[in-house]
Amino acid sequence: MQLRILGCSGGIGGANRTTSFLINDSILIDAGTGVGDLSFSALTRIEHVFITHSHLDHIACLPMLVDTIMGSRNAPITVYATETTLNVLKKHIFNWAIWPDFNKIPNAKAPFMRYSLLELGQSCCIDQCTITAIPAVHTVPAVGYKLDSGKSAVIFSGDSVCNTEFWDIVNSTENLSHLIIETAFSNREYELANAAKHFCPLTLLEQLKFLNRPAQVLVTHLKPADSELTMQEILRDHSNISISRLEQNQIITF
Ligand SMILES: [Zn+2]
Ligand SMILES: [Zn+2]
Repeated sequence: MQLRILGCSGGIGGANRTTSFLINDSILIDAGTGVGDLSFSALTRIEHVFITHSHLDHIACLPMLVDTIMGSRNAPITVYATETTLNVLKKHIFNWAIWPDFNKIPNAKAPFMRYSLLELGQSCCIDQCTITAIPAVHTVPAVGYKLDSGKSAVIFSGDSVCNTEFWDIVNSTENLSHLIIETAFSNREYELANAAKHFCPLTLLEQLKFLNRPAQVLVTHLKPADSELTMQEILRDHSNISISRLEQNQIITF
């Protein structure tokens, strides 16, 4: 199974694309601006979109993805999220004011897009990949996702400062190969990071002390302004962890 990183930046500009990962050809984890680099035919192969939370950097391309491929698919595209996040999408995005309600057109019985509730702790198995919503701690209700092929598992924190429940899941995942974890800000933005419920290197490394199994740790969601500095601070101060920056277009086999 392949996880392709379409976007993993905390912002835009130049080559930066915001959070979106593609599993094989058909499953998206978040729909940030990285989706826009896919070819039209690649876009039409997307069938499932799992959303971590309602922030714009994670959903920016969802409305235009549905609009672009709606006439080229026989089945609706399915959007999975918690009830709170689905309600935000319905009320604030697909509300006819910002974008059409693709859950109602061309008609409610056979819409271009359908919603699927996936609450915290629930799993969904698609093409032998088990996707489980796991706890996240952010300024809005959020989840991370565990992606398990059976052979190995990748855990993605989403936007989160993590908690003990998150680490319990990480540490009980016996086939864990990769942990994708966010760090948005450098240490000089310590207070802003705390207020925005994002990690900076200091708080990331404190939390990584709870990791007690071998896994490649990949840092995502670096804000462009300080991305180099943030990685330097992580790499300077970490100990005993295999840690590197998640790269756009990186392919993780699991
Ligand atoms: Zn967020
Ligand atoms: Zn974000």
